[in-house]
Amino acid sequence: MRHKERDIAFHLEGSEPNQAHNVMPARRRRVLQKAREILSARTDGKVVTRHQGRGGGGGDQHTLVDGKDPGRIANAEEDIRRQVAPPARQARRGGGAGGQSRDIHAKTPAMVSSPKCVGQVRKGDRRAQTPMTRRASCARMRCTSNRVTAVVQITSPQFKENAARAIGDAGLQKALGKAKGAFLQRRGDAVARLPEFEQLRDIGRDIKNHTLANLDFYLETYAANVEAAGGKVHWCSTAEEARAAVLEICRNAGAKTVTKGKSMISEELGINDHLEAHGIEPVETDLGEYIIQLRREHPSHIIAPAFHLNREDWEKSFREMHTDLPKDRVFSERRDILTEARTKLRHRFLASDVGITGANFLIAESGSSVIVTNEGNGDLTQTLPRVHIALASIEKMVPTLNDACALLRLLARSATGQDFSVYTTFSTGGRRPGDLDGPEEYHVVLIDNGRSNMFGTEFQEMLRCIRCAACMNHCPVYGVTGGHAYGWVYPGPMGSVLTPTLIGVDKAGHLPNASTFCGRCESVCPVKIPLPKMMRHWREREFERHLSPVAVRRNLGLWAYVAQRPALYRMATKLAVGALGMLAQGKGAFRSLPLAGGWTQGRDLPVPEGGTFMDRYAKTKRGA
Ligand code: SF4
Repeated sequence: MRHKERDIAFHLEGSEPNQAHNVMPARRRRVLQKAREILSARTDGKVVTRHQGRGGGGGDQHTLVDGKDPGRIANAEEDIRRQVAPPARQARRGGGAGGQSRDIHAKTPAMVSSPKCVGQVRKGDRRAQTPMTRRASCARMRCTSNRVTAVVQITSPQFKENAARAIGDAGLQKALGKAKGAFLQRRGDAVARLPEFEQLRDIGRDIKNHTLANLDFYLETYAANVEAAGGKVHWCSTAEEARAAVLEICRNAGAKTVTKGKSMISEELGINDHLEAHGIEPVETDLGEYIIQLRREHPSHIIAPAFHLNREDWEKSFREMHTDLPKDRVFSERRDILTEARTKLRHRFLASDVGITGANFLIAESGSSVIVTNEGNGDLTQTLPRVHIALASIEKMVPTLNDACALLRLLARSATGQDFSVYTTFSTGGRRPGDLDGPEEYHVVLIDNGRSNMFGTEFQEMLRCIRCAACMNHCPVYGVTGGHAYGWVYPGPMGSVLTPTLIGVDKAGHLPNASTFCGRCESVCPVKIPLPKMMRHWREREFERHLSPVAVRRNLGLWAYVAQRPALYRMATKLAVGALGMLAQGKGAFRSLPLAGGWTQGRDLPVPEGGTFMDRYAKTKRGA
């Protein structure tokens, strides 16, 4: 009971005193605490909508179309910079966000595009605090941002059963085998084409670290610039607040139908169910999301939601659900699937009242949100309806356009093996007078939902994640279980770290144990997140809190006792190797063993050959 209480307290507070906490520089701790306070001050337990209505709004939508030629990308960057930078316009008007935009804009261009500038902390920027920042930092307000709400059904505690079912599912295994190979090949080729990829990974890591260390400042700057461009920011500490904010916007727009781009945070918030429960129809427009919505499933992968399906599954679902289409239509090619989805979706785009997208990045200097897609559905979702809602969690922030572009180069290569995604769209505010298209209203629902709990803990580095999915594409465990086995929104190695953080290690303790610790996830992560190290931290927490099974704890305790006594260790391993050799009776492997049923249930145990490791090591040394 005592442990249970401790767990709950930890879960609510986000972290308990630990070594990492103590060794954190005091300044960084203060900054992170301040970011929490800002969120708390902005929400204070309810949804707050601010709109300063600075003269006339203004907004941009700019789409960057498949830039394979680096020169073209560089030109496009300049083009985008000109188009997405309301601070420049406001500087000319003598307006802007309390002077912040001018200050930050002057310092931003070269932080990351030139390696020598990497990691520069813009100290001058920090002096440009807004009155709101100062108020929030000074006030000791009730912090509500440490409440985490999970609305999607959680089956993480049944990971082992889920995994066993997945391994026995021939259809799933076929789908996983095909899709995984393609992802690995494409990423490998894309990385090989960019000699400075490793350097770019360091840059990506530094951009995210810098942003997290100064998140309070960038949140404020971003919000001021969104509002200066005519948008609204809704600060939400919890999933309930975010859902309420989205519903309120939809209701104010009189929405009956809402189109949606792919967004993992919307999965986390359970937006679709919430809208449906209130009489609003959400329509997924990403091809993979569309099929799984038809099948009433959840994504099994963060960038390829229908990773678990084969072409036959698509055909079957389409025939079952699209009963109004001709029965004799054929699905012999991939493009037949696309054509069918387009036929059904096109008029939904035109009929929708509100478009909801996620955001790959939020750019503080311009108040822009960025989405990348390969289908163009995100652009139709956010430009056709009268109202655009961008859902984004707080860690999506980056300081400048250049920072976003550096991360985009990493994202496309790590995710799909492209040099750049087909559509990269920057949105700043709603439609301005004279614009040909774009939404009349632009809302950003900015969500914490437990992220700030990670500040100052061993898990803070997880907030660098740019959701590229490279870790799961390379994970041998994900490769055989697929994503649904993980039992919540985020699968694979990133999910094994993030899920316990967001829903509690008591529910998700199996996930950090579902790793071979081969280290491939860390080696491919574009922002160098030490995923195995963080999984080990979760294992330690699980052990400390007596959440792991009694047998595991007992065996680990026994192993630790023996391992700390070298003479005993040598004797015990010698006896064990000898006994196993005798028991084997000439066989090469054990199919089952007493006391090791869990191990041999899924694989054979090879019989040890040639003595213990220490014996062989000593022999080799003598030979040398
Ligand atoms: S943890 Fe790294 S590799 Fe995995 S999704 Fe996040 S950024 Fe990509």
